[in-house]
Amino acid sequence: MLAAIAVEGKLSVKEVPNPSPKYEEALVKLTTAGVCHSDVHQVKGDWSVAQRTISIPIGHEGIGVVEELGPEAEKFVQKGDRVIMGLGGMGGGYWCGACEYCLSGRPRLCRQTRPLFGTYAEYISVWAKALVKLPDQVSDNEVSLACGGLTAYNAVKKLITFGVTPGKQVAIVGAAGGLGHYAVQIAKEFGYKVVGVDIGNERLEFVKALGADNAVDVSEAPQFVRQLGGAKASIVFSPKVAGFDLGMRLLKRGGIFIGVGMPAIKEGPLSIMPLDILFKDLLISSSAVGNVEEMREVVQLAADGKVKTHIGRVASLSEAPQVIEELEQGKYTGRAILKM
Ligand SMILES: [Zn+2]
Ligand SMILES: [Zn+2]
Repeated sequence: MLAAIAVEGKLSVKEVPNPSPKYEEALVKLTTAGVCHSDVHQVKGDWSVAQRTISIPIGHEGIGVVEELGPEAEKFVQKGDRVIMGLGGMGGGYWCGACEYCLSGRPRLCRQTRPLFGTYAEYISVWAKALVKLPDQVSDNEVSLACGGLTAYNAVKKLITFGVTPGKQVAIVGAAGGLGHYAVQIAKEFGYKVVGVDIGNERLEFVKALGADNAVDVSEAPQFVRQLGGAKASIVFSPKVAGFDLGMRLLKRGGIFIGVGMPAIKEGPLSIMPLDILFKDLLISSSAVGNVEEMREVVQLAADGKVKTHIGRVASLSEAPQVIEELEQGKYTGRAILKM
């Protein structure tokens, strides 16, 4: 089969052996893969030096049809099921189900957690418990719900965890991006007032079209949000430290910061005055992907028409290396998908 593999900072599409399903695994014939910003970092080895020297199958958002079952996988899925997979790559491969994290709904923190990578391919063999069945109303074009949608959903859900009630002002930094555009729709559905922050008119028009109450350019955001009385919470999807800094500055006293974007290590640390945290009594948190149950909740939102993926680029599997470059250069808005 064909699959996209990253070696030494370069992605190439090549012929590799077909996988076969092991214990509790299902072989899925992929129809669509989503291109996530994490894929760029992974190809380039931005998060770990080791990543640059080993070869890694790329892609952690996929939709496909179950074609074959490994031993005992039939307890979870059936041949012919149309499924979405990935969970952001971080926990979609395996988790133990018995530790304190698994049992409290956070399998991503499980010591035995295994990632799921390799959806830029014709086939993938997946741990069947991590698969979520798709209703017919959710098309293959919604593949990016598997990471982007799930991550945005969980970041917005954190507002509830931290007691931010509907009607409060929430700033979304990177609102026109692959994750941000989901967060705007979900935060509106949850009843928040949304100020979307991004760069340039075209992207701001897009943010307004998604239903944001306000859309403002990065350069004007601090002043604009101050006039609104400051944000009760900011959710930062920008993969740049500058975006994190901005998200911090938009908060009012007692504000809640949720960092989601993952800046490259070479960008260095975030600088915060400890006194600012103290005087403003800020709460600093993060959010990353989610679990299978949350994936089902996101799929339901999509089936109900509450969240829709904006697709900026459709390509074939062989075009994957080019799409990765385009994403790095910010050449399209929304998500890119690969059709197998
Ligand atoms: Zn566990
Ligand atoms: Zn992702």
